[in-house]
Amino acid sequence: MIPDYHIHTCRCGHARGEMRHYVEEARKRGLREIGFADHVPMYWLPGERRDPGLAMHEGEFPDYVAEVLSLTEACQDIAVRLGVEVDYVPGHEETAAGIIAGYSFDYVIGSVHFIDGWAFDSPHQLEEYGRRAIEDVYRDYFQLLCRAAGTGLFDIMAHPDLVKKFGYRPKADLAGLYRQAAEAFARAGVCVEVNTAGLRWPAGEIYPALEFLKICRMEGVPAVTGSDAHAPDQVGLAFAQARELLLAAGYTEVALFRGRKKRMVKI
Ligand code: ZN
Ligand code: FE
Ligand code: FE
Ligand code: ZN
Repeated sequence: MIPDYHIHTCRCGHARGEMRHYVEEARKRGLREIGFADHVPMYWLPGERRDPGLAMHEGEFPDYVAEVLSLTEACQDIAVRLGVEVDYVPGHEETAAGIIAGYSFDYVIGSVHFIDGWAFDSPHQLEEYGRRAIEDVYRDYFQLLCRAAGTGLFDIMAHPDLVKKFGYRPKADLAGLYRQAAEAFARAGVCVEVNTAGLRWPAGEIYPALEFLKICRMEGVPAVTGSDAHAPDQVGLAFAQARELLLAAGYTEVALFRGRKKRMVKI
């Protein structure tokens, strides 16, 4: 069974369920390895405001880490890893680096959720799609994704074509953007995340698209799997489909992480 490395908890303010509920679900579904990747405490919303519905307060972060580590210790039958999902926002690399350096993570997931302050993946900010050309949105998104990979802060790039979440798609062929991103991933030595959350949104497909994943494979970028669960019953969701997608793209293995070192396992 492929691992689920992208699990959120109620600590982030927009997911349901405590860690132990996610572990129980994972166990029921026969997962042998999972990792929590709650959102890093953020400071960089417009005006440096914090939105308690986006991430936990920084004062709660040590408790988050301690709870994961206590589960790692307590669970004999399932490996529980300590991860974190870190937003990439240009100009805040040092803040992110400081948080990352403060704990012994098994892996760090980097993601792009903001295009110059616009949370393009928020269902509450959809009007902005009406104000921008979708071609520009994709170009800006992929540029940020490449920059994020190049920071060297991250082990894994999350939901790499998240920009399709609400089903807005340009007419133009995306192969050029996919190639730029895959090359940036390869140069940076990061993994690409196969994330099943896209199935739960209008995009109706896994992140990334098969064509994108094939290019990652050709560039030699290792893959990682995650559900981006925001409720316990989403753990390992549609992982049979994720495995099919990986196989279709030519992957035969995925990466496991421990102490930010990866090893490959057959899928
Ligand atoms: Zn979330
Ligand atoms: Fe994310
Ligand atoms: Fe997430
Ligand atoms: Zn995510």
